Amino acid sequence: MATFVPPNERNARSPHLPFGDHRGAPFYGKDVISVSQFSRTDLEYIFGVAKEMRAMVERVGTFDLLKGKILANLFYEPSTRTSSSFLAAMERLGGSVIPINEVRYSSVAKGESLPDTIRTLECYADVIVIRHPEVGSAEVAAKYSKKPVINAGDGIGEHPTQALLDLFTIKEELGQVDGLTVTMLGDLKNGRTVHSLSRLLSTFVVRLNYVSPEILRMPPELVEELKVKGVSQKEFDALEPVLAETDVLYVTRVQKERFESQDLYEKVKGAFVITPETMEQAKEKMIIMHPLPRVGEISMEVDDDPRAAYFRQMEYGLYVRMALLAMVLGKA
Ligand code: ASP
Repeated sequence: MATFVPPNERNARSPHLPFGDHRGAPFYGKDVISVSQFSRTDLEYIFGVAKEMRAMVERVGTFDLLKGKILANLFYEPSTRTSSSFLAAMERLGGSVIPINEVRYSSVAKGESLPDTIRTLECYADVIVIRHPEVGSAEVAAKYSKKPVINAGDGIGEHPTQALLDLFTIKEELGQVDGLTVTMLGDLKNGRTVHSLSRLLSTFVVRLNYVSPEILRMPPELVEELKVKGVSQKEFDALEPVLAETDVLYVTRVQKERFESQDLYEKVKGAFVITPETMEQAKEKMIIMHPLPRVGEISMEVDDDPRAAYFRQMEYGLYVRMALLAMVLGKA
């Protein structure tokens, strides 16, 4: 595991500007660390580019927008979708990838610090995607990197690119975001995807329901942060009271790797399972989403229901990640 060295001012870059704070080329050279960086105008812009990416992939598959550019894909934690979609995104844009999917086989296993690993990769790559178990690690990486850094999940902190693709999914599937009731269910304490998504949704007029076992509630600081912004939020320990009013049901897995006690995990892991019977109580036009992987929270019998959007959600992710790469590299 990398030893953390606090960022020192000599190496630090200028603080992160909001994403759309255009000084020269819009978005060029920016880091993507937290969803708090994005204004509604930025989101419209990103989704516009993502739609163009989809059109291009459908038309030609691969094209040379990022030819000659290199992405370092640095994953200190397991990943299937995020790492492979960033890889596919870069390749579809004509660029190439240094894949470090298993840091055990890199110098991290020899005790290399995160700043040193970042300083190494910035010599070879034009953009760095990082997933790391520590909250704040992407911010640290960005401080040491002269190249743009994209947070692909920092422990239980944030997963901004997932939230962007989640929001893009909602917009594409339901047409608009304002006015929706979004119910988040599962491990809201440790799930970084719901932390990022709820923050991102606070830019819109939505009602948020949080359904979880008592010990897996949304972090109180986050609830407070959103309350100050005027977001309507309600907490429940069962889905039934809110299912019928829900437009988006966002299901998450209980984050086993964040539990100190296996016994405690066993107690809560099967707390909620979505079945065809659950879907009978839901709106005709509701969508059900999941950042995946699922480990039993949605029964496979639900997969053929047209409201099951979780596989489509993965595909939207490719286009959003293509858009982000092109934007931070100054090509969109
Ligand atoms: N893949 C998502 C993440 O990395 C969700 C999960 O692992 O449960 O946060």
